[in-house]
Amino acid sequence: MTAWEPNWERLYKALSVEAERGFVDLMGKQYHFSEFVMLELSKPLATGTLEQQRRWRDMAIAFSEYPHCNPEERRNLTIAARNLFDNLQNRQETPQEPPQSEITSKTPKTAPIAAQAPSSYASKPSLNTPLRELAEIQRRRIAKPLEERLGLYTVRDVLFYYPRDHIDYARQVNIGQLVAGETVTLVGTVKRSNCFTSPKNKKLTIFELILRDRTGQIKLNRFFGGANFTNRGWQERLKRQYPEGSVIAASGLVKQNKYGFTLDNPEIEILDGPGAAIESIKIGRILPVYPLVEGVTADVVRHAVLAALPATESITDPLPAVLKRQYGLIGLKDAIAQIHFPSDRDSLTHARRRLVFDEFFYLQLGFLQRRAQLKKAEKSAVLVPSGELSEQFKRILPFSLTNAQQRVVGEILQDLNSETPMNRLVQGDVGSGKTVVGVYAILAAIQSGYQAALMAPTEVLAEQHYRKLVTWFNLLHLPVELLTGSTKAAKRREIHAQLETGELPLLVGTHALIQDKVKFRQLGLVVIDEQHRFGVEQRARLLDKGRSPHVLTMTATPIPRTLALTLHGDLDVSQIDELPPGRQPIQTTALNGKQRRQAYDLIRREIAQGRQVYVILPMIEESEKMDLRAATQEYERLQEIFPEFKVGLLHGRMSSAEKEDVLKQFRDNETQIIVSTTVIEVGVDVPNATVMLIENAERFGLSQLHQLRGRVGRGSHQSYCLLMSGTNNPDAKQRLAVLEQSQDGFFISEMDLRFRGPGEVLGRRQSGVADFALASLVEDQEVLNLAREAAEKLIFADESLGGMSSLKKELEIRYQKLMGGSILT
Ligand code: ADP
Ligand code: MG
Repeated sequence: MTAWEPNWERLYKALSVEAERGFVDLMGKQYHFSEFVMLELSKPLATGTLEQQRRWRDMAIAFSEYPHCNPEERRNLTIAARNLFDNLQNRQETPQEPPQSEITSKTPKTAPIAAQAPSSYASKPSLNTPLRELAEIQRRRIAKPLEERLGLYTVRDVLFYYPRDHIDYARQVNIGQLVAGETVTLVGTVKRSNCFTSPKNKKLTIFELILRDRTGQIKLNRFFGGANFTNRGWQERLKRQYPEGSVIAASGLVKQNKYGFTLDNPEIEILDGPGAAIESIKIGRILPVYPLVEGVTADVVRHAVLAALPATESITDPLPAVLKRQYGLIGLKDAIAQIHFPSDRDSLTHARRRLVFDEFFYLQLGFLQRRAQLKKAEKSAVLVPSGELSEQFKRILPFSLTNAQQRVVGEILQDLNSETPMNRLVQGDVGSGKTVVGVYAILAAIQSGYQAALMAPTEVLAEQHYRKLVTWFNLLHLPVELLTGSTKAAKRREIHAQLETGELPLLVGTHALIQDKVKFRQLGLVVIDEQHRFGVEQRARLLDKGRSPHVLTMTATPIPRTLALTLHGDLDVSQIDELPPGRQPIQTTALNGKQRRQAYDLIRREIAQGRQVYVILPMIEESEKMDLRAATQEYERLQEIFPEFKVGLLHGRMSSAEKEDVLKQFRDNETQIIVSTTVIEVGVDVPNATVMLIENAERFGLSQLHQLRGRVGRGSHQSYCLLMSGTNNPDAKQRLAVLEQSQDGFFISEMDLRFRGPGEVLGRRQSGVADFALASLVEDQEVLNLAREAAEKLIFADESLGGMSSLKKELEIRYQKLMGGSILT
């Protein structure tokens, strides 16, 4: 070996470091990788064939272009160089050199990170390997924070801990080419760093870095507010993390001031230097950002993921290949690798789509399998669809059913006429006529010799149902009773007795129905109104009063199909998507404080014509007391403003008897205005009321406002809804505008979902169910539909999923996690 012999060791090291860094043309702290390689290539070769010597020279020429190549080309060049060096050094077994074009085509399009990550395991980890057993995790001592802070114990846990976002280091630019207003990633050397308390503001700490590359320099600023950071020691430590000469990547928005360009509060990664964050960081790649908690840095999770990635090799994709082909889904292995460290934007999109599909798919598969098994396991009473009773009912009804009602009645009656228990949800806008539909089901039960129960969430609503049913049932010569918390003891005993003998075919009521003393002789059907207001437990307890009775649930808060599927995927859903004829749309106007006069003028005009008015105040969640005070104050204020009218007050603190009193006065038009907190929300039916004034409307969800609005427009008169809001917030205005423009509950709930997200739309009780790691019920509707379709196909083919053992296993893991076991019982 002469002194001019290339330094093979350094060459190999440089090539692998460059590959690890994602081909950023950097070596050590200051050199460019390409300069170093060219320097080595310029040394005359003492060995090798003529052909090899020729390629040696060509390679030198190729590397002079390296700084101008894109990462893909750089990778190809680096691999070609490596192959050539290998051959010269006889490090590789291949005696024949493949031509260069073949070398390039051999390199995988998306170099799997796992292959590049240092492999320090004796044996490849599997999904179930505990994280703490991975050498890399041990070496870095990060098992504890992963376990304790993030609850990640196994390789599987961390691989399925998806990033919440990605930083796009692919948009790397030279400092000399910056343009203000662009988001960029810069890689350069720290020329100077400083950390100090702002001379102008003693509470502000400023951290400055001057970053330099071949083309120029730029100042990076990070600002820290608060006393914690003014500590000198802290400032010094921060400064020392970025010593002069260390190589960093910074990404952020480019700003320009009179001194030049800056990046304010950029994301900074140390690439090389004392505090080097992550050796295998992929500049020129898209870097994952994880949902973090205190005490766990971004790098800890990235390291854990990198250490776990080789396990993706052992993943068998449970999803049948036909489904993947049909729905254009990539394999699970790739999806997992690419969601963490995507090769490019496209790969990320595909990875996300596959994983979102999985999130929906297993939930739907679980729902559908559960439904299929329940239907097989239990037998219900067969309730005959047509009989004398329903014929009579048709005759006494003063109207004929809408098409939508007919369709839904048909669906229900078909369900009932079978031993398979019905589990159907009827969604329909306020006033769409769900009650009548429920009555048809009830009559089918009674006709067949069974009893029925109708449960509503509030006394007001239960009483309303009862009143309507009494008139109809009297005409049909059938008894019906009402059971609520305020039913007198004697009456209660009588009801209990009549239920047990079977004399009483229908009981209407509130939660009182689920008390132990309530025993039916033969409960064949349970109807639950406003089902979302009941807990799973309450529902279950009512069902227990019969031997797998048919169940019909109804809701006037239509939820978007996406939510319905992810929430009640195990139910059959019917929609009454048509209002009875002759309903005029409710004229809806959003008003601000200055337009209050306008509102009161309208109220006067309407009452002068004999109509009535609701004034609704938002519920103050934290305190019933404040609630009461606000309602009382408004009540007194309105008495002063409208001395010529009688005003009533309804609030949550009243006993049911008091409430019923107030409502009766309103129904009888003894009071013209009723002030209420949202207790009035469901079911109250006073057709003479034509004005609904809602105070602080911006505090309500759209669906709830729509519900409230449904209290008017129930008679033949034109009705009005006035949405008073105390805010000029453009978002709030935009939301309220939806109500001004639409009367369609399905559309409104869809918009509500967009504006506020599933948790808010559903209310707290059920929000947990719709929690997905990646999937969005707003943006991924198409994927949800595909996932549902795919699940239906599989369950239809074989509900036991026979022959698909890995799918079954995955379903068990996923479905249990999603449902937390709660909804299953
Ligand atoms: P919701 O779906 O809100 O529960 P209801 O069942 O209370 O609606 O019905 C609202 C009103 O419309 C009731 O007074 C009911 O008698 C009436 N109604 C129901 N169906 C029809 C129909 N097909 N034609 C006319 N009026 C109807
Ligand atoms: Mg109703």
